[in-house]
Amino acid sequence: MSATEKEARHRQRMQRKKAVVDEAIAHADQDKGLLLLLTGNGKGKSSSAFGMVARALGHGMKIGVAQFIKGNTDTGEEAFFKQQPNITWHVLGEGFTWETQNLARDIDTAQRGWAVVKTMLMDESINLIVLDELTYPIKYGWLDIDTVLADLNARPAMQHVVITGRAAHKALYEVADTVTELADKKHAFRAGISAQKGVDL
Ligand code: ATP
Ligand code: MG
Repeated sequence: MSATEKEARHRQRMQRKKAVVDEAIAHADQDKGLLLLLTGNGKGKSSSAFGMVARALGHGMKIGVAQFIKGNTDTGEEAFFKQQPNITWHVLGEGFTWETQNLARDIDTAQRGWAVVKTMLMDESINLIVLDELTYPIKYGWLDIDTVLADLNARPAMQHVVITGRAAHKALYEVADTVTELADKKHAFRAGISAQKGVDL
């Protein structure tokens, strides 16, 4: 095939592709406050959520973050985003469940945490809410899934919510608009590498 033939074929292929993409874009013409679920065992759930926070801040949007499971290590995202004027950051968990070892306290902490989330879900001025590691208090039964669903459903029409965490309840899969399962193909931790600043925390 000559170079001109190759060029013509490429142009034709791209024209067909453009028609398909243009039609898909024309079809997706609605605006909506989205519910996004980032789950699965692979790395990248919370960091993806905080990538969206950076995007939203760049557009001048107002953000609320609630962290349900708080490990010992202070993260770079918390240090960075807390300095931003348009963001409210709530730490609602007390560490991993195997560290607290106190069921009544875990339930109480989770429920008080949800009350804070509920105030954000009722606040029209908040454009994007990240509920980081929310899947765990639901999985352990510290939060009632029906209460969570009802409060999410009652939020302002244009408010976006991102939920992260492994082993998400199937009802969250059902109500979410966008669901991504991150797959764990390989992780440096299993090769004996500790959590690295800027990558893992
Ligand atoms: P990140 O915050 O890096 O996006 P994540 O939110 O997907 O990770 P979590 O389950 O919340 O994952 O775990 C947080 C910490 O555990 C991070 O330091 C992350 O690098 C690490 N981690 C995530 N997935 C794995 C895995 N499959 N094996 C070992 N460590 C992991
Ligand atoms: Mg996470």
